[in-house]
Amino acid sequence: MADLTGIETRIQAYPHWPIEAWRPDVPGRIDRIYTHWSAYDHEKVFPAYHFCVAIKPGAGIVVVNTHDVRENMRNVYEAPDLPYAAHTRNRNSYALGISIMAMQGATPQDFGDYPLTEPLIDALCLVGARLAAFYNVPIDADHIMSHAEAALIDGYYGTAETERWDIARLRPSPLPLEPHEGIDVGEELRTRMRRAIAL
Ligand SMILES: [Zn+2]
Repeated sequence: MADLTGIETRIQAYPHWPIEAWRPDVPGRIDRIYTHWSAYDHEKVFPAYHFCVAIKPGAGIVVVNTHDVRENMRNVYEAPDLPYAAHTRNRNSYALGISIMAMQGATPQDFGDYPLTEPLIDALCLVGARLAAFYNVPIDADHIMSHAEAALIDGYYGTAETERWDIARLRPSPLPLEPHEGIDVGEELRTRMRRAIAL
């Protein structure tokens, strides 16, 4: 669990829009997009990501811009002391992080009190699709991947504290988590983004 001391997690503290109304509007170079879940509740948002898909009480699903996308439009490792959104280990240069606010206390078998839902997954895919179109990012496994897929490549896939499995399962199952699920679900998310791009 991250240390939230001093981090503003209220939706109201950041620009936010109903999912239908949100569009990207900051031009610049973005090469890759990484998808996540937050491992907190449906409402708390985090500036480790650029765009958070959250549930605002009374308003439904909202897109919250928690980090200025321009801060990742550079090789962040050349000047790591300057601010940027640190969403995916060693992969934050020219890269956006988008995330569903959900999955606090979740395991592959039990998604807990704040699970992924189909409307939240659809909203994430719509955000990914609109960003891909705006920044000319191809919707393929080289350019848009889940944190779990990055973790598979970089050697930290799994459910342990130092490992990551977001987003390797869209619904709970009693079966143990397998590596191929990371790739399968990444492919499903990309398929849903390609469909959403027509919306
Ligand atoms: Zn993640």
